[in-house]
Amino acid sequence: SEYQEPQDARRTDVTYDDLGGLGDTINQLREMVELPLRYPELFQRLGVDPPRGVLLHGPPGTGKTRLARAVANESDAQFFLINGPEIMGSAYGESEKRLREIFEAATKAAPSIVFIDEIDSIAPKRGQVTGEAEKRIVAQLLTLMDGLEPRTNLVVIAATNRPDAIDEALRRPGRFDREIVIGVPDESGRREILAIHTRGMPLGEDVDLGELARTTFGFVGADMAALTREAAIEAVRRIMPKLNLEEGTIPPEVLAELRVTRDDFLNALKRVQPSAMREVMVQA
Ligand code: ATP
Repeated sequence: SEYQEPQDARRTDVTYDDLGGLGDTINQLREMVELPLRYPELFQRLGVDPPRGVLLHGPPGTGKTRLARAVANESDAQFFLINGPEIMGSAYGESEKRLREIFEAATKAAPSIVFIDEIDSIAPKRGQVTGEAEKRIVAQLLTLMDGLEPRTNLVVIAATNRPDAIDEALRRPGRFDREIVIGVPDESGRREILAIHTRGMPLGEDVDLGELARTTFGFVGADMAALTREAAIEAVRRIMPKLNLEEGTIPPEVLAELRVTRDDFLNALKRVQPSAMREVMVQA
């Protein structure tokens, strides 16, 4: 059976505007991925092969997946997702088969981006500790990448938070020979991320996104998203007593007045910990 992805999985409406604090990264990715996907004739004219594989590395929750979706969308390319741990879980021989099927479908649908999330789980360093399954899957992935025709308009983007843990063979020329490092956002990055996640949210006049950005040191994008969600839940809790739940509907004037306030954010801050800190605490 040919690999089938849910219809909407290949389409994505994420844009560069949905990513905060990643201006430089977006520029690098546009040059490495969007340009060759959009204008393959530039590279053909110059007689050079466009980049085939790009490795994104950075801590969890910094937007790697969102970034890959955005670059696919903005390049008018089809998006194919391979989840490392998930594909590893398949029965003997199934993982390689699925990889082959995905590459085949992506080649047919080109221009395409194949995104491999958590590549370290598929392709860890091949050593004594590595099992037979991993060895076969790494070998299959390398064969597939090496076997792509130079004119196939397909870029493989892989994400990892442990770049040292992946098989060196993957880093050779023609494979994942480009690298983009994504860091933990700074204050202005956090401000941008907050603005994105509160875009559709009615905010109280006392909410100061600059203040929130200053007080969220160590938060990554996923933490900022969690904070915003938690603040919204605080706002809901606050208005619950005003609701007559027996009626089954919420009066329009109550909805119209509903705002997420500074206090909602401050209460949310007590519940949401930055993931970087969690790691530090676990290690300690
Ligand atoms: P993981 O390594 O855990 O898969 P990731 O780096 O791929 O994480 P995403 O899955 O892209 O991160 O991000 C998780 C969620 O966090 C996103 O859906 C988004 O809501 C939010 N997020 C992360 N980074 C950003 C960012 N730079 N701008 C806006 N939102 C972000």
